[in-house]
Amino acid sequence: MNVSPTIVWFREDFRLADNQALHEATLLGQPLICLVILDDAANMGAAAQWWLDGAIHALAADLRAKGGDLHVLRGPARRVVESVAQATGAGAVFWNRRYDPNGRETDTALKAALQARGVVARSFSGALLHEPWTVRTQSGAPYKIFTAFWRAACTLPVQAFLRPAPDRLVFAPPIPALEALRVPPEQYRLLPTAPDWAGGLRAAWKPGEAQARARLTDFCRHHQAEYAQTRDFPAMETTSGLSAFLRFGHISPARVWETAQASPNPDKFLTELGWRDFAWSLLFETPDLASRNLRPEFDAMKWRTDPKGLAAWQRGRTGYPLVDAGMRELWHTGVMHNRVRMVVASFLVKHLLIDWREGERWFADTLVDYDPASNPMNWQWSAGTGVDAAPYFRIMNPILQSRKFDPHGIYIRRWVPEVAHLSDKDIHTPWEVGCRGYVAPVVDHAEARARALAAWKAL
Ligand SMILES: Cc1cc2nc3c(=O)[nH]c(=O)nc-3n(C[C@H](O)[C@H](O)[C@H](O)COP(=O)(O)OP(=O)(O)OC[C@H]3O[C@@H](n4cnc5c(N)ncnc54)[C@H](O)[C@@H]3O)c2cc1C
Repeated sequence: MNVSPTIVWFREDFRLADNQALHEATLLGQPLICLVILDDAANMGAAAQWWLDGAIHALAADLRAKGGDLHVLRGPARRVVESVAQATGAGAVFWNRRYDPNGRETDTALKAALQARGVVARSFSGALLHEPWTVRTQSGAPYKIFTAFWRAACTLPVQAFLRPAPDRLVFAPPIPALEALRVPPEQYRLLPTAPDWAGGLRAAWKPGEAQARARLTDFCRHHQAEYAQTRDFPAMETTSGLSAFLRFGHISPARVWETAQASPNPDKFLTELGWRDFAWSLLFETPDLASRNLRPEFDAMKWRTDPKGLAAWQRGRTGYPLVDAGMRELWHTGVMHNRVRMVVASFLVKHLLIDWREGERWFADTLVDYDPASNPMNWQWSAGTGVDAAPYFRIMNPILQSRKFDPHGIYIRRWVPEVAHLSDKDIHTPWEVGCRGYVAPVVDHAEARARALAAWKAL
């Protein structure tokens, strides 16, 4: 038999189950070469890189358990894949699609280059419930408003490729040319060194497919039924915690969809998954989502330059306990509860009048679940600059949000020990009781609100 291996290139799909590229590759009956490429141009924040390191190790362990190996290489992805295909005599290269502008550009060029050399190149779906180009208005235009998008999406079948991990995988024997390119784990350069700030991430997370499955099962069994009522309360910890697992493809949205559908009250939770698809479809149509105001009138906004205010916000030292709790949770664990993300985003943009892009960048560097679609979409939504956004004059009151969504201060006490001794009533406004040892508010709420409204009116 003529042996020409099939390359499976893993990118945002660190799983063996429900992985169409891997599955289709096995059907060719040729030995596999499994690849990950550390592309320095991949533009990933520090916390997400920490996760990527864990994702690579977890996938490598799962492949080892099947008798195989994961080849981790470095360099511009297109060049690396082409040279591996050439050096190994591969007959086919398979991958699951990604939807960010740089990734798409690379993949399109690579596909054409491989095909020109007679190598089969095929891509599959697996990161979204629906391909972005399938959810369209009657005239074929993309939706700009989430509710309309989701109504249309719900009439379409989900891209459900659901298969257990393959029982048996046949791997190519070591190929010297490939071995020479391999990057050893100590040279991945994904983990922080001096200082090692990732202790909180290690305590909070273990990346991997098995962990994603366990989390999904636990969520659907214990929390989904009450999700609509509990999801806004950060102290309850009743949301799924799946965002980073979805980001790195340890689990597919289709699997989440199927499992949630089979459990009580899925609608609200599935709608949140719909926001994720919406974000990617928005990025698909708007590659500069992270840099351009979707509502151009905001280009004239006079954002403040306030390095001190920005630093206070980043470090969780604004003097508003709920804002500070969120920013410290983010720094420590790499995530922040969704309700609190909305509060801190609104605070930066409206109370401090700092450009939303500053916040987007900070989140991009510190979130383990950062993705280039959800993050800018949600920032534009919070800032009022997005197409489907809350109006700019709707200014979240961090004190009322705190009283409403953390009424007993349980979440605040967890992250802001300086105010932990205050009563449930005073913990939301420590300045009113002269709380020592905690920073004074960087801005007065009423003044900040008036300033934001004036800036908006001036537009
Ligand atoms: C300013 C801001 C920035 C954000 N940046 C990101 C980001 O970079 N990456 C990210 O995954 N989410 C982002 N979100 C959305 C949301 O906060 C997180 O997805 C959520 O907190 C993750 O927790 P969970 O997995 O427990 O969510 P659950 O409540 O269990 O929701 C299930 C899944 O639905 C998806 N989802 C939920 N809400 C949203 C949303 N508003 N937008 C898009 N997808 C959503 C996520 O994949 C999530 O895992 C951001 C929100 C805000 C307000």
